[in-house]
Amino acid sequence: MSIIELRNIRKSFGTVEVIHDVSFSVEKGEVVCIIGPSGSGKSTLLRCINGLETYQGGSIAVHGQRVDTGSSAIRQLRTRVAMVFQRFNLFPHRTALENVAEGPIFVKKEPREEVLKRSRDLLTRVGLGAKIDAYPAQLSGGQQQRVAIARALGMKPDAILFDEPTSALDPELVGEVLAVMRSLADEGMTMVVVTHEMGFAREVADRVLFLDGGVLVEEGPPDEVLSRPQNPRTQDFLRRIL
Ligand code: ADP
Ligand code: MG
Repeated sequence: MSIIELRNIRKSFGTVEVIHDVSFSVEKGEVVCIIGPSGSGKSTLLRCINGLETYQGGSIAVHGQRVDTGSSAIRQLRTRVAMVFQRFNLFPHRTALENVAEGPIFVKKEPREEVLKRSRDLLTRVGLGAKIDAYPAQLSGGQQQRVAIARALGMKPDAILFDEPTSALDPELVGEVLAVMRSLADEGMTMVVVTHEMGFAREVADRVLFLDGGVLVEEGPPDEVLSRPQNPRTQDFLRRIL
C-alpha cells in the first residue's frame, strides 16, 4: 500500500480552480521532489495532503485512510504526516527542547520523561546538542529549521512534507539543512519535498514531479525530468532557473 495516494485532486479557492486533476502516490521510503514555478499549486497540494486545506474533487489517502478535513480522524492523521514549513513556525517563547517535545506530550499524550529524552536525542541528531535550551530568537535560520525538522521527527511520522525548507535561509545556511534532509532520506524516511534546490532533487529524489498552473505536467526519475525533460513547459522552467 502507498503511504500517500492522491487521485484526481481538484482544489478551488472560491470559483478559481488552482489544482486540476492531480494524481500521484508516494511509496514507503520514497523521496519525491515537487518542482514548479511560483503559484503553480505546490504548497496547496502539500496542505491538502496534511488536511490543512479542503479539496473539491478526487481523494487523498494516507496509509489507506481517507484525508478529509471534516473527519474527526484528521488530528490523528496530522500526527502521522508531519510538515516542515519555509518559515520554521517554531513557538517563540519555547526553547528548542520544548518545541520538539510539545506535540508528543500534549497531542500524543506520551510520557513526559520519555519524550524529553527522545527530543534531546533528536536535537543532537540534527547537530543541535549544544542548543537544547536556546530560544528560537537565539538561533540562526538554519538552526531553527533543524529544530523544526527534529520537531517533525518527534511525532514519529510515517512521512514528512517539506515546503521549500531552505527558501527563507541565507545561502550559507542552506547546506546544513539539506545535509540533515539527506541523512533522513538515507535512513529511509518517506519524504515529499517542494524545493528549488535542483542539486538536492537530482541527488536525493527517487522521483521528480513538475507542477505548472495546477497541472502535474511531467514526472519521472530526476535524471530524466531534470536532464531530458520531455514537456516544453518543463524545458522552459528549467531553462529559466538553471
Ligand atoms: P506555490 O506554492 O506553487 O507557489 P500555491 O499553492 O501557494 O503555489 O498557490 C497556488 C495558487 O493558489 C496561486 O494562484 C495562489 O494565488 C492561490 N492561492 C493559494 N492560497 C490561497 C488562498 N488562501 N486563497 C486564495 N487563493 C490562494
Ligand atoms: Mg509555495
